[in-house]
Amino acid sequence: MFQTPAGPWFSISEFNIQAYCEVQLKYRWAGIKITTPAMTMGTQTHEQIEQQFAEDTRELEEVTIEEALELAKQGITTVARELHISSNTFRLNGIIDQIEIGPNGIIILDDKPSDQPYFGSKVQLFMYAIAFKDHYKPDLDIHVKIRQSKTQKIVWEDTFNEKIHEEMMERLQRMNELALGKREFEPTQYEVKCRNCTYREMCKKNV
Ligand code: SF4
Repeated sequence: MFQTPAGPWFSISEFNIQAYCEVQLKYRWAGIKITTPAMTMGTQTHEQIEQQFAEDTRELEEVTIEEALELAKQGITTVARELHISSNTFRLNGIIDQIEIGPNGIIILDDKPSDQPYFGSKVQLFMYAIAFKDHYKPDLDIHVKIRQSKTQKIVWEDTFNEKIHEEMMERLQRMNELALGKREFEPTQYEVKCRNCTYREMCKKNV
């Protein structure tokens, strides 16, 4: 059984960085943020999706998440974008790109620029599922999906379960230890990640 240790709150996107390389996370926590042209382009694509969604749903009535969960029991599906979520139990917060709540379950969707469903992106989605479940305690299965933002194609999907929850709790424990200085930040073992890393100029591990 995981016991939540005393510690800081985490932004859920930080779990994606930790899965990529903990040294990257160390730089981020030190306040060093480097923006590449690819990141800027990704932000622009994201904003276009937001604008299109706002346009498509302009005429629809707004409901709260609690109302959406009730509507699901009546067979009605609702969709939201940019949902702020937080979990007091696990001290997580983040913004879910898109969430769909319907009679067949909850779909948490993240838009990513790559066709590759990277492990860090999966961890990020599982953490959203944990935070949503903790906050709203829905009586529905939670499915998670990664969508390629340009093509709008689903490149990976899974269903959140107890085993995944336990694995994520171990990851959360590790994050707490990193944040509290009880553990060293481990560099990635994969050189290909270093080649694509925005911190490679300043990182001693970079080869
Ligand atoms: S260069 Fe490699 S080890 Fe250093 S921060 Fe980047 S990914 Fe991590």
